[in-house]
Amino acid sequence: MLVDVDRETMNLDPGKVYEAVTPRTRAVLAVHLFGRPLDWEELQNAVSPDVHLVEDAAGALGARWRGMPCGGLAELGCISFHPRKIVSTGEGGAVTTQNGDLDDAVRRLRHHGIATSGEFDIPEPGFNYRLSDILCAVGLVQLRRLEELWEGRQRLAKAYSERLEGIVETPTAAKGDRHGWQAYVVQLDRRDEALEALREAEIQAQIGTYAVHRLSAYKDQGPFPGADSCYERALALPFHSRLTEPDLDRVAEVLDNVVSE
Ligand SMILES: *Cc1c(COP(=O)(O)O)cnc(C)c1O
Repeated sequence: MLVDVDRETMNLDPGKVYEAVTPRTRAVLAVHLFGRPLDWEELQNAVSPDVHLVEDAAGALGARWRGMPCGGLAELGCISFHPRKIVSTGEGGAVTTQNGDLDDAVRRLRHHGIATSGEFDIPEPGFNYRLSDILCAVGLVQLRRLEELWEGRQRLAKAYSERLEGIVETPTAAKGDRHGWQAYVVQLDRRDEALEALREAEIQAQIGTYAVHRLSAYKDQGPFPGADSCYERALALPFHSRLTEPDLDRVAEVLDNVVSE
């Protein structure tokens, strides 16, 4: 089942998780959206200890919750190396865990279900989900530079926020946390007008996020006002290493014009 998000953080609302869990709840899959760390303690407190927590840290490599790396908070985490992420192999990703049995299961399942030790056997059906060695080589050199890559994003995010504070709602992490800056997504009431104005100025921007419950495959599961608000108000701004200060000034100017119209 789906649980609504907080309209400000755009992350899962732990209070709503608490209301949604039943004795049949087996696991909660929680996202650190765009690299903003979800308050993991609040989530842990919202469910009983026998509910498994799975961390969608797909866009949160480099982010930290209270100093701890996102992707390492849950029993099982997943990280994406899609081109939009801080470390990219084109396609693919990684699963993280400290649990030996889960580690073995993931290694087995990604490789046709073949047992990782002992005689050749397939104890249960698996998949062909391996990331190729060549792509791993591409990813590993970036992983070693993760801090440097993150610092570049942090600088850019700070430069945006300095210009956009008071114009739109700028993205933040909670005190003591570190945002991963997978994307720089602001929120504002007249999002569609802003998107149009940016495009007219030949600035590439995009709707910040879609809302799962509005998609055909997942609709009619109840009202989700938090997700509706994010879908209507979120705006992803250009965010890449070649952006210059004048580029950021231009983005801020267009947004300022829309908001003060
Ligand atoms: C990028 C992303 C995904 C998708 O990752 P893939 O590697 O393309 O499967 C899923 N969840 C979140 C939060 C993401 O940021």
